[in-house]
Amino acid sequence: MSRRKHLLDFADTVKGFMPRDEGLALHHYALHHEEGREGTWLEIGAWCGKSAVYLGAAAESMNAVLYSLDHHHGSEENQEGWEHFDETLVDPVDGRLNTLPSWQRTISDAELEATVIGLVGPSTVIAEHFSEPLDILFIDGGHGEEVAWADFHAWSPKVVLGGLLMIHDVFENPAEGGRPPYEIYLEALSSNEFVEIGTVGSLRVLSRVA
Ligand code: SAH
Ligand code: MG
Repeated sequence: MSRRKHLLDFADTVKGFMPRDEGLALHHYALHHEEGREGTWLEIGAWCGKSAVYLGAAAESMNAVLYSLDHHHGSEENQEGWEHFDETLVDPVDGRLNTLPSWQRTISDAELEATVIGLVGPSTVIAEHFSEPLDILFIDGGHGEEVAWADFHAWSPKVVLGGLLMIHDVFENPAEGGRPPYEIYLEALSSNEFVEIGTVGSLRVLSRVA
């Protein structure tokens, strides 16, 4: 089995919220984005490293680097009492969620440590000090109104002309999920700076045209 196929099977075993078909789409669009070769890619929302392996497997083939950003304390819906709470990810020392050890384990097991680089901290603070243009940006961080818009405003301007903007958890029907990812997706399209080039499940793939 090829190294890339092995990584895709491994990604499937990692804890997270990325269905396989959407993970494979993420991988596919990144792998075939020729302009992104040897480039700088970034994902907002690392959790335990699942999407980082799907994207990282493509990045490795393309000699690109993927930054995987997270403060690692989970989003609102990951906290105790909410839908996506996972008790095994709580740090007994302070009782807070901490996904960093799981993320590190995933990237180490995948042998992607030279390709997938962790950025640990609040998304907007890192964005203010991150000046590298992005060939691929994957937005899958907090889904609350304020956080999702802050991510969009802070990071989408860094996507180069011809670069990819991928957004996860875009649900047109409010019964299926929260609105903010859908709203930023609509904003990206109505700005006329991005056009849609693909959609799989709740994943939207856009390309910068202006
Ligand atoms: N892409 C991951 C899932 C990410 S879940 C996968 O497919 O496996 C969303 C993540 O966003 C959580 O881990 C949460 O800690 C992170 N997050 C939410 N708001 C954030 C913020 N403002 N800054 C940094 N990370 C944030
Ligand atoms: Mg998601």
